[in-house]
Amino acid sequence: EAKADGRATWRFFDPRMQQALDASAALEADLRLALIRQQLYLSYQPVVDRAARVTGVEALLRWAHPQRGEIGPTEFIPQAEKSELILELGEWVLEAACLQLVHWAASAQTAHLTMAVNVSARQFRQPGFIDQVLMVLQRTGADPRLLKLELTESMLLTDMDDVIGKMAALRGHGVGFALDDFGTGYSSLRYLKLLPIDQLKIDRSFVQDMLHSRHAASIVRAIVNLAYSLDLAVVAEGVETREQWSALEAIGCTAFQGYLFDRPAPILDADSMVGYASLHA
Ligand code: C2E
Ligand code: MG
Ligand code: MG
Ligand code: MG
Repeated sequence: EAKADGRATWRFFDPRMQQALDASAALEADLRLALIRQQLYLSYQPVVDRAARVTGVEALLRWAHPQRGEIGPTEFIPQAEKSELILELGEWVLEAACLQLVHWAASAQTAHLTMAVNVSARQFRQPGFIDQVLMVLQRTGADPRLLKLELTESMLLTDMDDVIGKMAALRGHGVGFALDDFGTGYSSLRYLKLLPIDQLKIDRSFVQDMLHSRHAASIVRAIVNLAYSLDLAVVAEGVETREQWSALEAIGCTAFQGYLFDRPAPILDADSMVGYASLHA
């Protein structure tokens, strides 16, 4: 399919490579516009306790694309991470999440809810990360103790002093930290002891397999035990069935997140505030 292209641009030898570059540049340009045109929004997925009461949510980024419809973060975050655009995007997410916290603070029914926000490697690595978070908190007036930043293991491996310094500084203001997708990365027990984290999130791949794979079940059990011995909270991600939920409870898991309770949604409805205890019946 020959594309009419009148622009005088430098051509790479491999036309497929040029096409890929064009596509990624176009995505980045689109994403910049999306920020300006307010096409980005957050969906919130409840996190529940053993009684299936909602204790908080995780904010998940979405893009309401005018032509393509709703686009999930796995389709555009990796591209945004290739440039400084991720810094702006990350700040937008933090601010939107904190504004939601402030909104929830106004009602007794929602004032206790915690907000988990995913942080990208490049965003966390930037020298101004501490200030970025503190300024958003100050600007919005959100309670830092309700904010939990989700990091992944791979982000923590290099320049440990910088990582620990940043986490400790923010923790000093009350901000919490969770290790996301736990078990899929390189997890050294020594790092876990050094890092000022509050919570491990068991990756959903283990939860999905635990009922038909003894291997996956053993990993889940090991993570829960590890969390207990290090005094960390543990959340199971991707809980889709009652059977998975029961198995996780039996192992000693205390917090859960997944389609069984609710899918991510832009609005937390009154139903979810009551909790999902009826699922137990
Ligand atoms: P994550 O942080 O591990 O988020 C959990 C993902 O699992 C979400 O996908 C969520 O919709 C999905 N999920 C939740 N429950 C279930 C379930 O029961 N079954 C299944 N199959 N999936 C479930 P989503 O929203 O597509 O996000 C994917 C990833 O994109 C996130 O993984 C996170 O790493 C990244 N992400 C999302 N929002 C942001 C953001 O604001 N900033 C950054 N840097 N990354 C983000
Ligand atoms: Mg997450
Ligand atoms: Mg995860
Ligand atoms: Mg993930």
